[in-house]
Amino acid sequence: MHQKADIPQIDYWYYIENIIKEVLQTYGYREIRTPAFEHTELFVRGIGETTDIVNKEMFTFQDRKGRSLTLRPEGTAPVVRAFLEHNMSRENPLAKLFYLGNMFRCEKPQAGRYRQFNQFGLEAIGSQSPLIDAEIIQASLEIYKKIGLADLKLIINSVGCRKCRPKYLKALKDYFRDRKELLCSDCRERYDKNPLRILDCKKKQCQKEVKNSPTIFDYLCEDCKNHFRKLREYLDSLEITYQVNPLLVRGLDYYTKTAFEIISGELGSQNAIGGGGRYDYLVEELGGKYTPSVGFAAGIERIVSTMEKQAVRIPSWEGIKVFVATVSSEDNSSALKIVKQIRENGVSAEMDFLDKSIKAQMRLANKLNVSYVLIVGQEELKEQKVTIKNMSNGQQEKVAISKILPYIKTSQEE
Ligand code: AMP
Repeated sequence: MHQKADIPQIDYWYYIENIIKEVLQTYGYREIRTPAFEHTELFVRGIGETTDIVNKEMFTFQDRKGRSLTLRPEGTAPVVRAFLEHNMSRENPLAKLFYLGNMFRCEKPQAGRYRQFNQFGLEAIGSQSPLIDAEIIQASLEIYKKIGLADLKLIINSVGCRKCRPKYLKALKDYFRDRKELLCSDCRERYDKNPLRILDCKKKQCQKEVKNSPTIFDYLCEDCKNHFRKLREYLDSLEITYQVNPLLVRGLDYYTKTAFEIISGELGSQNAIGGGGRYDYLVEELGGKYTPSVGFAAGIERIVSTMEKQAVRIPSWEGIKVFVATVSSEDNSSALKIVKQIRENGVSAEMDFLDKSIKAQMRLANKLNVSYVLIVGQEELKEQKVTIKNMSNGQQEKVAISKILPYIKTSQEE
């Protein structure tokens, strides 16, 4: 186990990725890998024409035949595209999938916000039950917990459905009509295109106006109200604590009913470590039949950064165990064979590739902090032996080549 200062970044990534895979297997989610880019149309239709992602943040380019392609800015639309293309509902009425991969958004880079970043996400395609919303939230929180993160907050909301949301949008427009001039320029645009997004504007002037705006809870239809009530009931029975925030709307148009976000106090202004929600009409929007679904996505860089800030301890790469040194270049073939034999038995081994003197090889072995140095020389080879130096106590012993592994393994266990 290592402390923050000496943990290479890659060890965090291995650690996080392993936990994601382990936990999601216990929930029955299977990994899906989709391409890094898709037809632009998929994101325009899926995420929504009025969203910041589609309007300002996509890396879009033309291929040689003039087709418009886009580096994926998020994982849900590509997963749904693959779900439809491969007719996955035929095998299983509820497809439970997860992904891990890089995403691209042309945003202003700052701490916690990058133009290429990594997400893991899970999608449950095919159920309208709030039970599956609860499961997705539970699985995400379990991953964070296994990773070792503390003090995370879950915020939930319902953003309504096709039936009730238009009434709420109208009420919002009525409310903001006379206040439009008091809003920031982005929100003035949002007023026409997507008034819901005014609710989560970070600007003080807008937040002031949002304070007394109509609340979604007065407009939800019976179905949405029941769905949200049931979700809270299931979260309570799982003993998951949450805050309800009617202003949580999220940046993608496809959300319906449940919207949620997990935030970490450690992350400053980019405090969302993950978020998700229901997208009951996305499959339909992309050409399939009505297939209610729910999903979640989290940024891996933000998880790593929270881990660093919370000094989460993780197992780290143990380094090289054995260095095989040669007395002269004549011994290279034998050393190569010995290294191969050690590695094949699952023990890490290294040798010299730079024609170093035996002294320099010993210095390198020291630097690598190996447990054993095996010295291969003509004298020892005549007897089918090598000299093994135990680096922790300095003792040296001649050992038969056939006994190297049992020797290393037994002394390792002592
Ligand atoms: P979203 O798809 O916008 O709901 O984002 C889901 C999660 O991905 C967020 O909660 C962040 O943790 C992470 N994320 C989104 N955009 C970025 C970005 N530009 N850089 C790093 N992480 C991001």
